Order: sequence, then structure tokens, then C-alpha cells
Amino acid sequence: MRFEENVALARLTTIGTGGPARAFAQPQTLAELERALHRAAELGLGVATVGLGSNLLAGDEGVDRLVLHLGGELAEARVEGELLVAGGGATNAVCLHRARAAGLGGFEFACAIPGTAGGGVWMNAGAYGSDWGTILARALVVTTDGTGWLTPGELGLGYRRSRLQHGQVVARVEYRLQPRPPGEIRAEVAKLVALRKATQPTNRRTFGSVFKNPEGAVGAGRMLELCGLKGHRIGGAMVSPVHANFIENADCATTADCLALMAEARRRAHEAYGVELEHEVVFLGEIELPLL
Ligand SMILES: Cc1cc2nc3c(=O)[nH]c(=O)nc-3n(C[C@H](O)[C@H](O)[C@H](O)COP(=O)(O)OP(=O)(O)OC[C@H]3O[C@@H](n4cnc5c(N)ncnc54)[C@H](O)[C@@H]3O)c2cc1C
Repeated sequence: MRFEENVALARLTTIGTGGPARAFAQPQTLAELERALHRAAELGLGVATVGLGSNLLAGDEGVDRLVLHLGGELAEARVEGELLVAGGGATNAVCLHRARAAGLGGFEFACAIPGTAGGGVWMNAGAYGSDWGTILARALVVTTDGTGWLTPGELGLGYRRSRLQHGQVVARVEYRLQPRPPGEIRAEVAKLVALRKATQPTNRRTFGSVFKNPEGAVGAGRMLELCGLKGHRIGGAMVSPVHANFIENADCATTADCLALMAEARRRAHEAYGVELEHEVVFLGEIELPLL
């Protein structure tokens, strides 16, 4: 497997920003993944895995790491009894399709989460009262030191977080699902997708929720809306006019534009509510938000 150079993260993220990765590889099998990690270690290169890049903001200057994108058998999914066994790079859309075809329910909540199995574990992604922690039986995690299965407890899944670190690659997951008629699954998914379309920007380049919901009654989106941020624009980045906890790439945005908008949003929320909003989107590369 070749390490490519000059692959732009903008091609790998849903927001469409980010400079080049120092090196890039797409392992197709577990053996290839293990070889890539060992080669990176020999070269003294840190590693980061990108799924669909749907919760990622990568530095405009690039990322000084080997960036991995799982393909081949590491992106496939199949049903075994009541387990859905998915490669770390399998998309949620493929997993939902396999589960529905086999008459297995429980994954419907993920129908509007445009990520992969591995990204879902890292983020403990969730919606409508369920998350990865609800359905995950275990995940196969590969590092240069070895390969092993971890339980949700060992992964430290909490609200939009896990204990995973870059260099730990989720190569496979097992979801425990329950029998449910495909017609019911289809109806539930249609209902959730319609709800999503009514409340969030679904046909724009975004990275999903910008900030985690703070403790208390007012969610981040409502708080930022009340701060007058809907439609606010810096450079090519704009706070969604539909939902204020989303940033859209409105016109050739850069990561710097997105960060400037996030800094302004945090400043206003802090001023109005005394709250320090914590970003949900993962930063990759040398980027950070200014202190409040
Ligand atoms: C329109 C839209 C709607 C969204 N709605 C929701 C929602 O309702 N709920 C929600 O929780 N999220 C939502 N998101 C955010 C995002 O889709 C989820 O967080 C998703 O799980 C991220 O998966 P990914 O594969 O895209 O991960 P990426 O964005 O590629 O990466 C996220 C993190 O996971 C790590 N990672 C990715 N793959 C692996 C792997 N195989 N092994 C180890 N680490 C890995 C990355 O290094 C990074 O740290 C939304 C995003 C968009 C654009």
C-alpha cells in the first residue's frame, strides 16, 4: 500500500475545508491497516483516521500526520444473527440498509447521521434519545502495540465523547440489534428524516453540530439564535439560517473563517449567558479557538 502525498483534507471533510495531509493511505484489510501503522511508527509519523469527515475541522495549513481512510473489507457490513458486524469505515447508510434488509431494528436513530462506524464510536454519535453506546456490543481497535476488542465501558463512551486517541483505529464494530419488521423500520426512518429536514440544514456543506449542548434548559442552537447569529457570516462561512448550531460553507470557506465564526459565537454566548460553549466538532491539525 502506497503512502500518497498532498491529499487535501478539503476532499475528505463534509465542510470542504482543510489543507494537505503529510501522508495519506487507504488500507483495505486488517493486515494492511496494521502494516500502515507500523510503517508510520518507523517514520515517526502520528496517525489520524478520517471517516466521512462529517464532524471534522482540519487546519488550512494541513495536518502533519499519516491520515488513514478505511476502504475494502474495512468498509463493509454484514449481519450475523442479531449482530450487525461493520468495518470501521462502513457508512451508517450501508449499515442501516443491511439491518433493515435483515429485519433488525435499533439503528434507525442514525439515519440522519452521515458518518461511519468508527467515527460514530469516537464521537458516541447519537440522536433522538439513542447513541452508539445504546447499540454497540464491542469495537476492534488497532494500534501499533496490538489489536483487541473493547467494550463501550472500556471505550469510555459519554455524551459525544469517547476515550479514543489518534493512533487507535476502530477497524470493526459489532452492533447488537433486535428483530423488527422492515416496514416499521422504513416508516420510522421516513419520520426521522422528515423531522431532520424541517429543523436542520440537510443539503448544505456543514460538519454537523458545532457546539455540544451546555447543561441547562437552553440548547446551543437556541442560545446562538437568541444571540442573533443566524445568517451571520465571516468570509465564506455562515451560521445556518435554519439552525444556529450549524456552520455552512457558503462560498469557498476556509477553516480560519469557520474558527472566526465559532469564536464570535462563543464570545456572544458567554456575554449573554455566562456559558463557555465547548466545541463538538473535532479539530485536526494546529488549530484552536481563542480563550474567552
Ligand atoms: C448534516 C449533519 C448532521 C449530523 N447529525 C448528527 C447527529 O444527529 N448526531 C451526531 O452525533 N452527529 C451528527 N453529525 C456529526 C457526524 O456525522 C457524527 O459525529 C459522525 O459520527 C462522525 O463520523 P465520521 O465517520 O464522519 O467521523 P469523522 O468526522 O471522519 O471523524 C470524527 C472523529 O472520529 C475519528 N475517527 C473516524 N473514523 C475512525 C476510525 N475508524 N477509528 C478511529 N477514529 C476514527 C476521527 O479521527 C475524528 O477524531 C452530523 C453531521 C452532519 C454533517
